[in-house]
Amino acid sequence: MNDEQLLRYSRHILLPEIGVEGQQKLLSASALVIGAGGLGSPAALYLAAAGVGSLTLVDGDNVDLTNLQRQILHATESVGRPKTESGRAALSRINPEVKVVPVQQRVGDESLERLVASSSIVLDCSDNFATRHAVNRACVRHRRPLVSGAAVRFDGQVSVFDLRDERSPCYHCLFPENAELEEMRCAVMGVFAPLTGIIGTVQAAEALKLLAGFGETLNGRLMLLDALAMQWRMVKLAKDPSCPVCATLAQEAATAFPTARTAPA
Ligand SMILES: [Zn+2]
Repeated sequence: MNDEQLLRYSRHILLPEIGVEGQQKLLSASALVIGAGGLGSPAALYLAAAGVGSLTLVDGDNVDLTNLQRQILHATESVGRPKTESGRAALSRINPEVKVVPVQQRVGDESLERLVASSSIVLDCSDNFATRHAVNRACVRHRRPLVSGAAVRFDGQVSVFDLRDERSPCYHCLFPENAELEEMRCAVMGVFAPLTGIIGTVQAAEALKLLAGFGETLNGRLMLLDALAMQWRMVKLAKDPSCPVCATLAQEAATAFPTARTAPA
């Protein structure tokens, strides 16, 4: 780290849990942020400010006037521009040292393979179940820690699936894909502006802990927020031994690579 970096990150370096070593880990890490909307905005802003070396920002949408009530990565003059471009500009203003890679597309299984494999950590800030399940599958396959968030109306939830540990549950263990889940998108349901800020910021906090290796993460726990009552609830998560995503893939991996227990952080 040079003198300017030592100053920029001094308030992290002062924390014994992070220090120079932890900050160095953040600087050499790469995070994949799926979605540059309500959750992705605060998550990406904090990761960039905190000095995570490389951020890949994935979103297929353009900035819309209805986004600005909560998607704080984007400004009024960005309406009509691709969210990833608007996001890159905002993140570079906060920290020009961070490499921001914009991926202006709605991701599917194939593109996720490559994107997840080349990232140290994945933040799911998307707004639909199809994407969440595709992201989960890729994270299980490549054993990448997944920080998952959701926010609609006044309800938020956030969890970590540390898939470097094969005992960890995956997103599918919690929300089976074939279940008749009501797709609640903020496009039709409404969403309380700061709720996305709270949940996205928790996602950033968990990602920084996972990357620098300190504290206790939300792995195996789901945190639920009722923002109307401002009440948090914690639910313990268990791995589904018959989960078609993580149970079979873990077995395949164990057979193919008997000694591979953890992915690189
Ligand atoms: Zn699973």
